[in-house]
Amino acid sequence: MSFFDLTLAALHQQMAPLHVSHVHTLWRAIYREGERQPADRQDFLPPLQKWLRTLDPLFFPEAVHTIPSHDGLTHKILLQLADSAQIETVLMGYPGRHTACLSTQVGCAMGCVFCATGQGGFTRHLAAGEIVSQVLHHQAILRQNGQGHLRNLVLMGMGEPLHNYAAVMAALDIISDTRGINIGPRRISISTVGVVPGIRRMAEENSPYNLAVSLHGATQAERARLVPVAKKWPLEELIDTCHFYCKKTARKIFFEWTLIENENDTTEQARALSDLLVGMPAHINLIPLNPTAGYNGAPSLRAVKFKTILRAAGFPVTIRQRRGIDVAAGCGQLAANCGQLAAS
Ligand code: SAH
Ligand code: SF4
Repeated sequence: MSFFDLTLAALHQQMAPLHVSHVHTLWRAIYREGERQPADRQDFLPPLQKWLRTLDPLFFPEAVHTIPSHDGLTHKILLQLADSAQIETVLMGYPGRHTACLSTQVGCAMGCVFCATGQGGFTRHLAAGEIVSQVLHHQAILRQNGQGHLRNLVLMGMGEPLHNYAAVMAALDIISDTRGINIGPRRISISTVGVVPGIRRMAEENSPYNLAVSLHGATQAERARLVPVAKKWPLEELIDTCHFYCKKTARKIFFEWTLIENENDTTEQARALSDLLVGMPAHINLIPLNPTAGYNGAPSLRAVKFKTILRAAGFPVTIRQRRGIDVAAGCGQLAANCGQLAAS
């Protein structure tokens, strides 16, 4: 077991037999102060030191590659896990704030045709601690550079968060705890390809995190071409579940749309999308396609026109800035590029 898998409630339980009162000091040391050798701390009683030594040495994935972008604002980190699997995680700097993009799986089982991670297939789920440790790497960079705290988190790296529901929710419980890392739930966004049972569960549990749904197609036929799991969870069922989520939680949903030339950037798709989302508290994010080796499509040249149609229908729309494109910032692309480097 890794320390980073434990929520604060689970840590209380684990430490109860030790009869020591240092749970919050330990939590704070690890998650606020960046302590990596808690077993050596003189202020901890011997039973606690001993217990800490029995843990899988607070296993901390090693950064095997850190690439800063040319503007120095974006850092892309390739982490090596205990079983040598590799995942990527990105720190993005904006004036006065930082956002981290986390991975939730090694690879992904969903197979979206334009996505580098999807093209590589699924290897395994990440444990909660492996998700949490990505944040600790970002905190360490910010601490080292004297750049303040992480403000926002997006689960938009490798993997499908709602396919790894329990570990993701445990990790977010740890990350949002006010006595530790303390990133507020409203500053955390979970992006899903549209795993209907997961969205329903988030609604039923009144999950406090923001929800983003990657749509990419406004008709079943168009969506299924890009997102194969649309065959399992059809568009109609997905949209019904989104309505259920909005009603149950009284929250809006962010819809993501990777714009691909002559594929899903047509006037018909823009109109179909505005019809599809009628009555939904929705914010639409248009993402320029990052070309990947396994897909022939090109980034759309019609983003502004697409946006105008949606705006005219009354939806808030943003075109996502391309951040750190010089460090191959597309989903799954650092691992893919490093694989190529290793092979050459
Ligand atoms: N599995 C989740 C989260 C990870 S992908 C999901 O699909 O939502 C995060 C976002 O990046 C998704 O909206 C996805 O569609 C988008 N994406 C993946 N590959 C991309 C590429 N090559 N170009 C642009 N966006 C991409
Ligand atoms: Fe998986 Fe998301 Fe990539 Fe689709 S876009 S393959 S769901 S990581």
